[in-house]
Amino acid sequence: MLEMARKVLKKYYGYDEFRPGQAKVIASLLNGKDTVAIMPTGAGKSLCFQIPAMLLPGITVVVSPLISLMKDQVDALTEQGIPATFINSSLTGSEAGRRLQQMRAGRFKLVYVAPERLTADWFQAAVGELSISMLAIDEAHCVSQWGHDFRPSYRNVSTFIANLPNRPVIGAFTATATPEVKTDISSLLALQWPQVHITGFDRPNLSFTVMRGENKQQFVLQYVKANTSQSGIIYAATRKEVDGLYELLRKKGYAAGRYHAGLSDDERMSQQERFLYDDVRVMVATNAFGMGIDKSNVRYVVHYNMPKNMESYYQEAGRSGRDGEPGECILLFGPQDPLLQRFLIDKSVEHPERKQHELKKLQEMVDYCHTPACLRQYILSYFGEPAVGSGCGHCGNCTADGEQVDITVDAQKVFSCVYRMKERFGISVIADVLKGSKNKKVQQLGFDRLPTYGLMAERTVLDIKTLVQRLVATGYLRLTESEYPVVKLGPEAMTVLRSEAQVWQKVFTERQPLVADDSLFELLRVCRKRISEREGVPPFVVFADTTLKEMSQHRPADLAAIRQIKGVGELKLQKYGGEFLAVITKYLAENIAAAGSTTAVIEHQPAKKVKVAAKKSSSKAETEPSHVITLGMYRQGAELDEIAATRDLTTNTVQNHLVRCAQEGHTVDWDRLIPVQYEELIIAKVKEVGGKQLKPLKDALPDAVSYAAIKAVLCKHFGVAGT
Ligand code: ADP
Ligand code: MG
Ligand code: ZN
Repeated sequence: MLEMARKVLKKYYGYDEFRPGQAKVIASLLNGKDTVAIMPTGAGKSLCFQIPAMLLPGITVVVSPLISLMKDQVDALTEQGIPATFINSSLTGSEAGRRLQQMRAGRFKLVYVAPERLTADWFQAAVGELSISMLAIDEAHCVSQWGHDFRPSYRNVSTFIANLPNRPVIGAFTATATPEVKTDISSLLALQWPQVHITGFDRPNLSFTVMRGENKQQFVLQYVKANTSQSGIIYAATRKEVDGLYELLRKKGYAAGRYHAGLSDDERMSQQERFLYDDVRVMVATNAFGMGIDKSNVRYVVHYNMPKNMESYYQEAGRSGRDGEPGECILLFGPQDPLLQRFLIDKSVEHPERKQHELKKLQEMVDYCHTPACLRQYILSYFGEPAVGSGCGHCGNCTADGEQVDITVDAQKVFSCVYRMKERFGISVIADVLKGSKNKKVQQLGFDRLPTYGLMAERTVLDIKTLVQRLVATGYLRLTESEYPVVKLGPEAMTVLRSEAQVWQKVFTERQPLVADDSLFELLRVCRKRISEREGVPPFVVFADTTLKEMSQHRPADLAAIRQIKGVGELKLQKYGGEFLAVITKYLAENIAAAGSTTAVIEHQPAKKVKVAAKKSSSKAETEPSHVITLGMYRQGAELDEIAATRDLTTNTVQNHLVRCAQEGHTVDWDRLIPVQYEELIIAKVKEVGGKQLKPLKDALPDAVSYAAIKAVLCKHFGVAGT
C-alpha cells in the first residue's frame, strides 16, 4: 500500500521521498486505524491525510478551523490535480447545494468543512448519503481548552461522527504535544484505540536566536532592510505595537502589511492575501495571524515581544522555513515583556488552577529567553525530546557571532546612578539623569545636583535606556513587578560597583542578509508571479521557492529534466513546465552571449550571486547586465545613492536602471521610493499634467517629492517611465 502512496507523492506533489513520520501516519490511516499525528508546524501534515484520501474509496471530510484559508487550500490541491472542494459560510445556499450534488456524483476526493457546519441539519442529512471513508481533523488541538486556540465548535465533531450511518476512520493532526491536549484530543473527538504518532520536534533548518536589551526598533529596521526581498513575519504583542511598527516600516518605504483583530474583516483578508501573493514582504501582526497559513517561503519570523508560552512561540516561529530551506527565528526580549504577559494572564484567566498553569508556562518562556545554553536543546527538552548532544552548533547561543566587549565602566555609572536615586525610579528617569536632561521632573527632584547627572551626556537617551535594559536582562538590575516598574540593584551590581567584578556584553555584529540574490531565481520568480496573477492563486501555490531554487541551480534543459525537480508533479509540468523552461533557456542564451568564450564554464557553475558589495567595474559586469546588478543591490535594501556611490554611477542612472528592469519584466518594489503621504498627490498631478515629461511634474509638486519618487509612481501606476 505504501508503494501506491509513494506513487501519489511523486505524481501529484512531485516529491520523491516522504518526510520523517509521514509514511507511518499514512500507513496507519490506510490500515483503518484512528490516528493522532503530532508533528511540528511545517513538517507536512496535510499530505498525511490527502494521500490516503486519494487512495481510499469514497470521500474524505477535512475539518479545518479557518474559513478564510479553505479556498487557498483547495486551490492548491486543484492546481496539483487533486479533486477537492470546500463548504463554509462564504458560499451561498445554492452554491453549497451544487457542491453537495457534485459530491454525491463522486466528483471530489476531499471536502473541507468548517466545524460550525458539521452539525447543521442540512449538512448532516446530505452527508449521510455519501460514503465517507475518512474524517481528518486538522489543527485538532482546537478541541482542547488547554490548547492555545480553543474553538468550542470543535466539540461538534464527536456528535457528527455519532450521527453518521457508518463510522469512518479518523485522523487528528496537530503540532501541540502537551499531555492535557493529547488526552483531550482522544477523548473529546471520541477516537477508538488511536495510534499516536509523534514526530521529532526538531526543525533542523530553523535557527533560533534570543536578543536581549537590543534596541528593538533599530534592530527591526536594519533587519528588514537587509532582507527586503524575503518574506517574513514580525509578531508583536499588542495591536498598538503592530500599528506603530507598521507605520514606521511604511514610512521608511518598505512594502509592509499588518494584521490584528482590530481591523475589519475585509482589511484583514486583503492584507493576508497581499502577503500570500508576495505583494507584501513583511507582515507585522499579533498572534491572530498565521494559523493555517501554509505559505511555504517565509524566511524569517521575528518576535518583537516575548509570547506567553513556548507552545505559542514554537508554533509562530515554526511558520518560517516550511519548505525546508533555512528559516531564521529571532526573539527580541525586553524586560517589560514578562510583565505584560503576566498582566494579560491576570486579566484573561479567572480559574485559579488554570492561571497557575499559565504562569508556570510563562516562567518557562522567560527561562528560554535567559538560558545561556543551546536554544534548540531547550526547545526539544521542553517538548519532551532527547537533547541533541552538547548543543546544536547553530543557534544564537551556540554560535558566537558577536564580540565580547567590556562595559564595566558604563555599568558602574548606571549602578551608581540607581543607587544615588535610592532605587525608587524607572528606566526613563534614570536615563534622563545620566543624559543630563533639563526636564522638569529631574530638576524638581533635585537630581541635577547628583554627581551622576550628565555622566553620559554624549550618548542619546535611547542608547542609555538600551544599556539599562541590557543590565536588567542580564540580571545586574531588577525591575519591580508593579504598574510602573522601578529599577533595583541586584547583588552582582554591588560587586561591580566595588570594582570586584567586570561586566561583559556580547555585541552583535551587523547581520548578513539571509540569502544572496540569484538573478535566474529572480527571473523565475517573475515568471511565477505572472502565472499566479493569471491563475488567481498565490505564487507559492504555483511552485515553492525550493522548486524555483532547484531550477535555478540545475537549469534543466528540457521538460524531462524539469520533471526531475522536486515539487514538479504531472499536472504542473503540463501547465507550467514550458513557461519556466523558456525563462531558463532565454537566461542561458543571454548569459552565454554575454560571457563569450566562458560558456562551458557557466553551464556547470552554480548560479552566480549578485552581492551588495559588487565592485565598481568588476568582472561580474561582463556576465550580469549592469542594470540587473543595480536591481540586485536595490533588492538587498541598498538606497539609490548608496548604489550610485558603490558603483560610481549617478543617482539618475541608478533610477533608470530600475526603470529598465521593470520594463524587462523584473519585479521592482517601487513603494520603497514613494513617500506614502505623497503617492495620491503624485498620481493626481500625473493625471493633470501628463506623464511624458518629468520636469513639469516636478515643478507642480512639493520640493520634498524627488524625481525618483515621480518615476516610481509612473512605473507603478502608469507603466511608463517619463523622460
Ligand atoms: P504542516 O505540518 O504545518 O501542516 P504542511 O502540510 O503545510 O505542514 O507542509 C509544509 C510544506 O512542506 C508544504 O509546502 C509541503 O508541500 C511540504 N512538504 C510536505 N511533505 C513533503 C515531502 N515529503 N517532501 C517535500 N516537501 C514536503
Ligand atoms: Mg497544517
Ligand atoms: Zn544551539
